[in-house]
Parts: sequence; structure tokens; C-alpha cells
Amino acid sequence: MQLEAERVSRDSTDSTKEKSRTLTFSPIMSGDQVVEKLDSLYPKIKTHLDHRGPFQLLVATILSAQCTDVQVNKVTPKLFEKFPDAASMSEAKISILERLVKSTGFYHVKAKRIKEISKKIIKGYGGKVPQTMEELLTFPGIGRKTGNIVLSAGYGKIEGIAVDTHVYRLSRRIGLSDSKTPEKIEIDLMRITPKELWPRLSMLLIFHGRRVCFARSPQCAKCPLSKKCLYYNSVVLKK
Ligand code: SF4
Repeated sequence: MQLEAERVSRDSTDSTKEKSRTLTFSPIMSGDQVVEKLDSLYPKIKTHLDHRGPFQLLVATILSAQCTDVQVNKVTPKLFEKFPDAASMSEAKISILERLVKSTGFYHVKAKRIKEISKKIIKGYGGKVPQTMEELLTFPGIGRKTGNIVLSAGYGKIEGIAVDTHVYRLSRRIGLSDSKTPEKIEIDLMRITPKELWPRLSMLLIFHGRRVCFARSPQCAKCPLSKKCLYYNSVVLKK
């Protein structure tokens, strides 16, 4: 199982090539305009995964693959009560971990993965989650999406923009990017958004995708982006 649905390439050469890619597509608005509009709709949102510290955030993010944050937040209090850190998690019996995370789905893989990651954190990093994307990408099943979430919400470090299924869909739908991979969409969004707003843009797009801009039936009448949104103007208004 690919834990990150929009897993991106780890090849830094590809990434460098992408950075120099000529922007042939004209984004319909800038990232800060999107943030401004969506901030007015969701002024107080924060990361949805309950956690204490970068390790618990990393584990919660892994559990959130193919699962809602609400369900993850139901599971993690018991999990973190028993295994609050990498040291205790690395010693946990797989059968116990599986039982604790079962309701998040794909529990065999997730239990194995959080144990492997915990062991690696203990062996290679003295029990602390590493603080660079480069190091995080060496962990099994961790891609740029998880890396960006852990670095920004866990350490206050901004390296990129977490592109999950909602960010992917909304970026293309609104007209912020016409790229077809999460990796390229991340680069397109970074180009049109001031760096300090990268984590906020991702969080707001995720929230908006869950609350208003649904995959099948976006609620455009409730959306502050509709005036400029590519989909609204080119599809909804033309029906
Ligand atoms: S106007 Fe409609 S399609 Fe565009 S972002 Fe808003 S909800 Fe989504």
C-alpha cells in the first residue's frame, strides 16, 4: 500500500528540473489571494490531528492516510497513552499496535510502518524526529506531503506545501495549476504564494475541499472564490 496517495518522487534531480520548468500556464489568482478569501471563511482553523510534539504528529499523519482526521483523533488518545514516544512505540508489539489502529484502515501496514519509523528514530536520531525534508524522505512511506506537515506544524519550518488529494483537486479546479502530479502542483503553488503562507494555503485548501468544494458536487454558491474560480466560470456558469 502506498501510504501517501499523492506520493512524490524522491529524486532531487527531477525536483530541480521541475523548479526550472517554464510556467506556461497562467494561474487565475495568487496563493495569497486564495488565503485571504478562505481565511475569511475559516479564520480559526488549525491542524486537525490531535498530537503532542513532532513524533505524535508524524504518527497521526501516517494514520490519516485513507482515513478521516476525526477517526484518527478517536484512535490516538489510547495509542499515545500507551506509547507516547518513539522509544515506547519502537518496543510495542505489532499485534497491540494493530488492535489500537485497526479502525483507521490498512492497519497491518500502518502498525508495521509506525514501529519501523520509531525504531529508525531511536537508532539514527536519538529519539527525535529529524528536522529536514531530506532526512524525513529516507523513512519508509514518508513523502513530501507528510514531511511538509511534520516540518511546518511540528517544528515551524517551512520547506514546501503539503499536497494531498484536496489540495491537488482544488488547485486544478480553481485554476492555480494545470499540473498533473502532486510534485508539480507543489512547485506551481510555491511559485504563486509567499513562503510564509505555504502551510496556511495547504491547510485552507484541505479544509475547503472537505467543507465546500467537494469532489463530486462543489457548493459553489457558498464559496468566496467563485468570482475567479476557473471551474465555476467555465463549467458551472455555462450549464
Ligand atoms: S467556486 Fe466551486 S469549484 Fe470553485 S473553489 Fe469554490 S466550490 Fe470549488
